[in-house]
Amino acid sequence: GELGQEQAGLIIAHYGQQLDVEALEGDRRGELFRCFVRANIDSLVTGDRVVWCLGDDNVGVIVARQERHTLLQRPDNFGQLKPVAANIDHIVLVIAPEPEPHDNLIDRYLVAAENTGIPAVILLNKADLINDHNRDRLEALLDRYRNLGYPVLKASAHHPDEHDDAITSLVKDRTSVFVGQSGVGKSSIIQTLVPDRELRVGALSESTGKGTHTTTTATLFHLDRGGDLIDSPGIREFGLWHMTTDEIEYGFREIREIIGLCRFRDCRHQGEPGCALDKAAAEGRITPERLHSFRRILQTMAEQQARGLKLS
Ligand code: GDP
Ligand code: ZN
Repeated sequence: GELGQEQAGLIIAHYGQQLDVEALEGDRRGELFRCFVRANIDSLVTGDRVVWCLGDDNVGVIVARQERHTLLQRPDNFGQLKPVAANIDHIVLVIAPEPEPHDNLIDRYLVAAENTGIPAVILLNKADLINDHNRDRLEALLDRYRNLGYPVLKASAHHPDEHDDAITSLVKDRTSVFVGQSGVGKSSIIQTLVPDRELRVGALSESTGKGTHTTTTATLFHLDRGGDLIDSPGIREFGLWHMTTDEIEYGFREIREIIGLCRFRDCRHQGEPGCALDKAAAEGRITPERLHSFRRILQTMAEQQARGLKLS
């Protein structure tokens, strides 16, 4: 059929060859259109800004992809990076008093975030569970990350009124993803931001006629209080993917530079005498918690790698 004028669009969800594109201009601005992709454009993902044309059958064709300012990728089973979502402005790492946060796990998420180049923010959810027994420990933990330059805030999905401003200003005018360990309250927070999430996802999958299994795709939601959210089961597993030694070394922002100063070329920075990391730790430029965590993550990944090699 005949194609209309070129116009700007935003990818809201993708299902293999089909994508849902929101018109960003014109009479039908804000409406969703099923679109197909011109063969010469590679790997479009949710959050991508595109140029598209509407056909006379109400089905669109995407003709170009705009430059992305960020890209979240995950390694596939062969270690190849696959794009998951584009143009995310920040990664909100959710933690909570329960399940108890461990430095090691928080640092894994932060390493993954640092390697995407997307800024990370730490959100302590379930602030209503802070009490005299856990307060000091939680504050010390949050301070360690504040001192590294990560923004930290507190909220409660169960008592949104008390912390409403914190979450509203966090998500406003930006595109966010929420990541973090199971049980910290990601779904609950998202539920307060997108109360009709299931309905909207249902409507999307219905429009493609592919049924509910398509809800595994990353979906972009416009939030009533401003800003966008991209969410999918895959994104919620962010940070638990395999990481290389280089990624781990890069991912600890205060350790990154010091490693460059280590004068031993083959140093694995695991406690070899004279390693620059130990000197920096002794001078207080690296906390013992972060140094311990850095070494643990390196060891864990090396062991996983060795096991993987033996299996294959
Ligand atoms: P997810 O696995 O990260 O998505 O976590 P969920 O949203 O499923 O929440 C896990 C549990 O924590 C559920 O029982 C929630 O009701 C509870 N929860 C979530 N937010 C809060 C909160 O702000 N305060 C309290 N006390 N419980 C919460
Ligand atoms: Zn070293």
